[in-house]
Amino acid sequence: MAFVDTPSMNHEQKRACLETIYDFYDEFIKGLPVACSRGCSICCTVNVAATSLEVEYLVDGLDEQMKRELINAFPGILSQPRFKPAHTTNEIASACLHMEGDVPEETGLHGKGRCPLLKQDLCTAYDRRPFACRAMLSRTKCAPGSQAQMGGFLLTINLALYQIIEHLDEGRLYGNMIDLIAQGLNAARGPERFPVSQPLPGFVLLPEEKGRFKGFIRRLTLQKVEALDMTIGDLLSLPAL
Ligand code: SF4
Repeated sequence: MAFVDTPSMNHEQKRACLETIYDFYDEFIKGLPVACSRGCSICCTVNVAATSLEVEYLVDGLDEQMKRELINAFPGILSQPRFKPAHTTNEIASACLHMEGDVPEETGLHGKGRCPLLKQDLCTAYDRRPFACRAMLSRTKCAPGSQAQMGGFLLTINLALYQIIEHLDEGRLYGNMIDLIAQGLNAARGPERFPVSQPLPGFVLLPEEKGRFKGFIRRLTLQKVEALDMTIGDLLSLPAL
């Protein structure tokens, strides 16, 4: 059973859903003990992955000057190494859930560059940044080369929301955010192959997380999508948990 009946949703409805999911998550994390603060930017690298839907939302929020700056900077940026995902989150989740052969692994290298949307350690697209940026939280201050410290249940929640957001954009492109921005601004260097966003195959959960996870999803489905005067639950049809 499809989790979200995405073919029946138009682009504006999907975008309104995306905004509601972002707002819900931003509220949810307010109660968590995180050390991230204004000006933290170690995680703002050239290796962020996102869906087309998210990148279109981000690009539509950029002012004309920022778009021009990006277009001018792209020849240099696009010649540098960066992580290009070979698989989507739902592809990997599907292999885990259905034991479809080996679980695909990401072997692509990560680049050392900083995100081109960063200026003086602040994100110029903060309100419209993709979920991967919102989800990069740490309980302790990060140092260069260190990894964000996240609790297990937060990882589960993050994975579920990556999956739902991918599902909202089913059939469209998934990839490195910079490559997708370059495509959106017609500044890409040439044709590029991107993975395609897949439908949600189900959630990857530990048995002991099930009750808490159900509560989280229930709260998500009660969120009102203001622009549509509907709840997420009206738009999404939940699989049995
Ligand atoms: S989009 Fe913003 S938050 Fe995300 S990596 Fe770039 S500068 Fe950082």
